[in-house]
Amino acid sequence: MARPTQVTVSLSAFRHNLGRARQLAPNSKVWAVVKADAYGHGLMMLAPALAKADGLALVEFEWARQLRESGWDRPILMLEGAFDYADVQAAAADGLELVVHEAKQIEWIERFGGAARLRVHLKLNTGMNRLGFHPAGFHDAWRRLRSLAQVSSITLMTHFANADVAGGASRAIERFDEVTAGLEGERSLCNSAALFDYEGAHRNWVRPGIMLYGASPFADRSADSLGLRPVMRFESRLISTQHLAVGDAVGYGSSFVADRPMVIGIVACGYADGYPRHAPTGTPIAVSGVRTRTVGRVSMDMLAVDLGPVPDARIGSAVELWGERVAVDDVAASAGTIGYELTCAIAPRVARVLQDDDG
Ligand SMILES: *Cc1c(COP(=O)(O)O)cnc(C)c1O
Repeated sequence: MARPTQVTVSLSAFRHNLGRARQLAPNSKVWAVVKADAYGHGLMMLAPALAKADGLALVEFEWARQLRESGWDRPILMLEGAFDYADVQAAAADGLELVVHEAKQIEWIERFGGAARLRVHLKLNTGMNRLGFHPAGFHDAWRRLRSLAQVSSITLMTHFANADVAGGASRAIERFDEVTAGLEGERSLCNSAALFDYEGAHRNWVRPGIMLYGASPFADRSADSLGLRPVMRFESRLISTQHLAVGDAVGYGSSFVADRPMVIGIVACGYADGYPRHAPTGTPIAVSGVRTRTVGRVSMDMLAVDLGPVPDARIGSAVELWGERVAVDDVAASAGTIGYELTCAIAPRVARVLQDDDG
């Protein structure tokens, strides 16, 4: 029998979340952000549910090529733009839209004299200080691109550093509006967090990522309370049980010691599957549909759970690491990280199953 560690990806949940994005921004077009193999969910597996997006946004040129080969003929946006001159040629050949965040990228586009028409997204740095033109150089960059016959459209964009905290994007939106005033072109500002909280910034295109996968962009609001449904269910089974006496320890380093007689279960899932090693004793997990907690250190291929709340659990009982009973965000919070990192970290050895529950 195959090792029972698997990820199930629900197309209906993804469709629901995409519908939620549309409901929040009914007058905007939606770039579904699918970088990092669709946040670890499997880009090609999700393909049937992507059809309802207006465009797909990612950073990997190989995957953009694959999308074209698989028949995706609608817009594709490269969020980090070209990494070298050859990428500009690839973008023209495959009809990929390019973020332009750096003068070097404008030079490559200038050098590319080709007849093909390039759609570019000129990025303004509104305070993240990661990518994008400083306000002082933005108009120059726009004029340079505008003068090129090979550039057919310039969308004006920015990305927020703090849209996930109350009021955190207000100043960046003001700055964006000041700097872009009078420049023609579509606008694109919002990630998932901003989509929920900054209706005035929705503009022509929104760029939701995490919300489409049913996780929360906010530390203090659950995905459920935002009307989102989890797309990923990470599951395994119990492969052993142990009876502990008072004073017995569990796992490497004996970090957990029983203070009463207890039964624990051993789950066939560890950090080599993508479960966070930093998740401490007490991290939520479900066995046979009942929420309980992990105990002891997570090892490479296994972790341990307290079976106190699940007296009927046996070898073979189903375990949900995260998904429906246990939100990925709750596991992330316990491990000191965010849901994004956990879904992205699912390891290649984990089997992937598609659940196409509404055709
Ligand atoms: C990743 C990314 C997004 C999506 O962000 P979420 O927080 O996942 O919604 C949007 N815009 C850009 C430029 C990104 O890099």
